[in-house]
Amino acid sequence: MAVDAREEVLMDAKTRLRNATDVILGRVEQLLDTYDRTLSGIGEVVSARGGIAERPDNYVHRLLVRRHAITPSLRWLFLVRSNGDLAELSADFPAPRANVADREYFQQVASRWDQGLYIGDPIKSRLDNALFIPVSRRVVNDGNRFLGVIAAGIEPMEISRLLSDAALPDGYTLRLVHHRGRAIACLPDSQACRENLWHNVTALANPNGPAEKGEISDSTRFGDPQGFGAYATSEKFPVSVMATADVDKVLARWHQSIFNYWIIALSSNALLVWLAGIALRQYQRRRQALRDLETANRNLEQRVVERTAELHQREAQARIFMNTALDAVVVIGSDGLIREFNKAAENMFGYANEEIVGQPLGCLMPPNFADEHQGLVEATNNGEAVRAMARGREVLGRAKDGREFPIEVSVGTTDEGGVRLHVGIIRDISERKIVEQELQRLATTDGLTGVLNRRAFTSEADNLAALAQRLGHPVSLMILDADKFKSINDTYGHPVGDIVLKKLVEAVASVLRKTDVLGRLGGEEFGVVLPGTDGEGAAILGERILDAVRACAVDLPEKQLRFTISLGISELGAPPDNLEATFTRADQALYEAKQSGRNCLRVASHR
Ligand code: GH3
Ligand code: MG
Ligand code: MG
Repeated sequence: MAVDAREEVLMDAKTRLRNATDVILGRVEQLLDTYDRTLSGIGEVVSARGGIAERPDNYVHRLLVRRHAITPSLRWLFLVRSNGDLAELSADFPAPRANVADREYFQQVASRWDQGLYIGDPIKSRLDNALFIPVSRRVVNDGNRFLGVIAAGIEPMEISRLLSDAALPDGYTLRLVHHRGRAIACLPDSQACRENLWHNVTALANPNGPAEKGEISDSTRFGDPQGFGAYATSEKFPVSVMATADVDKVLARWHQSIFNYWIIALSSNALLVWLAGIALRQYQRRRQALRDLETANRNLEQRVVERTAELHQREAQARIFMNTALDAVVVIGSDGLIREFNKAAENMFGYANEEIVGQPLGCLMPPNFADEHQGLVEATNNGEAVRAMARGREVLGRAKDGREFPIEVSVGTTDEGGVRLHVGIIRDISERKIVEQELQRLATTDGLTGVLNRRAFTSEADNLAALAQRLGHPVSLMILDADKFKSINDTYGHPVGDIVLKKLVEAVASVLRKTDVLGRLGGEEFGVVLPGTDGEGAAILGERILDAVRACAVDLPEKQLRFTISLGISELGAPPDNLEATFTRADQALYEAKQSGRNCLRVASHR
């Protein structure tokens, strides 16, 4: 009877060990699963944002803070760049400068492809010197390129607390063991337990070896007192839970319990009910916390899906916008190489997108502009240069066939996702230039005769006079006026008068040199500036003009209409003489010519 009872106690202890390893492993897996999903969720958001920004990224920091808030068993969540630099930390913004490239949890996931959650041995934090258990995951982009590592530090106490939930009495040991050999947590906790290598358990976890869970017949194999145990191995994570019992202590408690049985039977029932109540409440709280975590994870996954869809939609919209834009859009990187080239740009420059993307921007402009332009790209750190580019510049573009044409370029610069891009909006302004030139011509020429109007002539005369005075070169001014023009109008009509004016201009222009400037001062009066010509030279030229006009005739039905002009000439002297005074003198000389019978010239005698 006593022997049976003893066997029963031992059986009970074994069942207890099996249950404890099963239950604790289930909890551990649930917790690790939550960490795993938390980390991979954040990794996907980072990947969808195009990688880890070079500067502190408030959005990602806030994401870490929110995730941390619903996973309080973590000490912190942190994001590490591909070079090992700490990028973001849930506990601090911006993250303190630290490099973790030498840490196992970085190296293990950085150097291997397609690896799940890495669980490290407890290590001391570089930030606050406290012990933590690192977990980490690789962050990759769509093309599986390594972007960095998302990691978290688990409070070791949190795992110990999980083990203590099994509520095993004295004489039992419970360990969460990593398949690399070290214990992640021990109950009772001891340095020896944590520093021991539990390779025997790793052997038990061998997929080709014994089953994933089973009994340990001899606890001394693990350095424990004489006894027995049980283990359970996770299929998902490289961990096992093992428990052993000290047979002497189990039986001692049994002996004790027999003596005490009747005494405590009544009260222990009440105590058990009370303890069970506490245990149940604790269990329910934990279940609720895990349910909350799962909901949060689902929300995060949903947000990743939405954000990815949003990014794709935005990208599609941007592409539609680019390709329907009437202006050419050319995007270059800070290396000056073309990244985007829209349809309008293809039409404007004659290059297909595939052949120009990746080429230097210099291909799109005459060679002498290309160097200057590269200088501008490099000067984009300079705010003034950026503003100047944004306002738009008129430069020359060069098409694939070598044709050069005027373009207006405005450039905006963005630093999206830590990558500097210059977006150029380019407009072909050939037609605008033609219209501008035509407007300029209309604004400066006389509609009837095609020579400069009074304003343009005066401005030209000013420039030439100033230049001549500066260089000490001679310059003369000539004013010519049609003789008795009123009577031509009166006799033959205004249209004939117009023809006479045109003929007159042709005759005068035929005698002038290229550098001379002819303009209509008003009515039938014209001015000529003769650079490099003194009064004497102007008089010789004046005689030739008079001859040319005398030789002119307008063919009328009944006769050939001839006409003459009178000329007044004056040379500009050195300062203080000026153009205005020269005009007055030439006008006076013209008056004298008119007085002297017309069809002749007079040169102003003094300056
Ligand atoms: P003078 O020899 O003293 O210069 O005599 P004039 O008749 O030429 O002098 P006046 O200044 O009295 O006459 C100028 C005339 O020129 C008066 C005006 O009707 C005419 N006229 C001015 N502009 C035009 C024009 O664009 N076309 C025509 N057909 N006539 C014009
Ligand atoms: Mg006249
Ligand atoms: Mg006149």
